[in-house]
Formats: sequence, C-alpha cells, structure tokens
Amino acid sequence: MAQFDLIILGPPGAGKGTQASGIVETYGVPHISTGDMLRDAVKNQTAMGLEAKKYMDKGELVPDEVVIGIVRDRLQQPDTSKGFLLDGFPRTIPQAEALDQMLAGIERNVGKVIAILVNDEALVKRLTGRRICRDCQAPVHVVFNPPKVEGICDKCGGELYQRDDDTEATVRNRLEVYRQQTEPLIEYYDKQSVIARIDGDQAPGAVLEDVKAAIGPVL
Ligand code: ADP
Ligand code: ADP
Ligand code: ZN
Repeated sequence: MAQFDLIILGPPGAGKGTQASGIVETYGVPHISTGDMLRDAVKNQTAMGLEAKKYMDKGELVPDEVVIGIVRDRLQQPDTSKGFLLDGFPRTIPQAEALDQMLAGIERNVGKVIAILVNDEALVKRLTGRRICRDCQAPVHVVFNPPKVEGICDKCGGELYQRDDDTEATVRNRLEVYRQQTEPLIEYYDKQSVIARIDGDQAPGAVLEDVKAAIGPVL
C-alpha cells in the first residue's frame, strides 16, 4: 500500500508549497520539502548548506547525490510510515530512480504524483511577488494572497521575507531548468500510471479540491 506516498510536482511558483499545507492537513502525512531543508542548511551555515547555496542563488539544481542523501535520511524517520508528501523532489530522472529504489527497499512505491500546471507568465508574476515566513516557511503573495498584516505571517506571526532566488532573472533560469531537467518526470511517472494533471491556474481552494479528488478519500 502506498496510496499516501505522494509527490507534488510542477514548475517553480505553481503553488506546490501553498497546496502542501492543505494536503498534509487533510491526509496527516508529513510535508517533505527539499527546498525548505536546503534553506535551513543555508541558514545554519552547515558545510552542505554553504555548498548548496552556490547553486540555489543561480537557480541551478543542487547535485543529485546531495539531495538524494537528504531525502534518504528523511524517509527513514518514523513519521513517514503511513505516507509522505514530497515537494520539490524528485527534480531529475536520476532522483526519481533513486526514490523508486529507496521505496522498493521497504516494499512501497510512489502512490500518486500531483502535477500542478501553470503558464510561464503567471509563474513569473507569482514568484517575483512571493514572500515566505522565516519561521514556518508558508508562502504568501503581495497581490494574489496578501497577509492580513503587511510583513507578518498569518499562520504563526513570523516575519515574511523575499527569497534571494525570487528575482526575475533567477526565476527565468529556474523555469528553463524545470523544462529541461524536471518536466521529463511527467512522462516518467505517466509510465507508472500515477500522474494526476491539475490545472493550477485557479484559485488555491479550487486547486485543492481537484488535488483531493485525485488523491482520493481519507482512510
Ligand atoms: P511553489 O512551491 O510551487 O514554488 P508557492 O506555493 O510558493 O509555489 O506559490 C508561489 C507564489 O504564488 C506564492 O506567492 C503564492 O502565494 C502564490 N500562489 C500560490 N497558489 C496560487 C494561486 N492558485 N493563484 C495565485 N497565486 C498563487
Ligand atoms: P520552488 O518553490 O521555487 O519550486 P524550491 O524551494 O523547491 O523552489 O527549491 C529552491 C532551490 O533549491 C532550487 O532552485 C534548487 O537550487 C534547490 N533544490 C530544491 N530541491 C532540489 C532538488 N530536488 N534537486 C536539486 N536542487 C534542489
Ligand atoms: Zn509562519
């Protein structure tokens, strides 16, 4: 059984982080975001974080062996026993193959891949107006989803900030990297018959309804 071994996939800005909070609330699985974990390592100035930052600031991918190691460690935590939501991983075919191997080793498999699709011009507007909570990582948008109090997270009262890589030039490069290295995963998972394509160009609540319909009822 791997119905709740979930992946949320899509270009930067598609709404993966936004949807993740509704999904983890509904299904009770942990949210595993490689981007959040890497930013944490950067903040804590670990050797891995300092190395990763060089790639992140340019909008390039951190090397596969680094992120695969992070995910392998995380999936060994007991809170993943009933499922998980991977966000931002896998991003390359070798990462997807490594994940399949990790799961096969514990007699599990990817249950569903939620692919959130949004056109590029909307993505650029979403990313350049994005702000993130320093404490809980929740994303908001200065125009599309503004916080009740400017600069403050509605969920936890933390301070909102703009990510170093949410500038227009870096965003365009991240979209290009997505097309070349990550989009092929849609076909990879199509072959496993686990893809659900979701129209991400709707209000967040409508997107969540489509996502929940694709994953299925709570057990
Ligand atoms: P991702 O994790 O895929 O990069 P986020 O969830 O961080 O994307 O969303 C990117 C930005 O777009 C954020 O500023 C978020 O508030 C905003 N956003 C998310 N979903 C929608 C939506 N359905 N419509 C408009 N803006 C959205
Ligand atoms: P977004 O929310 O915009 O989709 P993320 O927060 O997932 O972006 O990732 C930010 C950056 O962290 C990426 O541009 C990349 O440099 C690095 N990163 C995150 N996940 C991975 C991964 N699975 N493989 C390689 N690099 C990654
Ligand atoms: Zn917060």
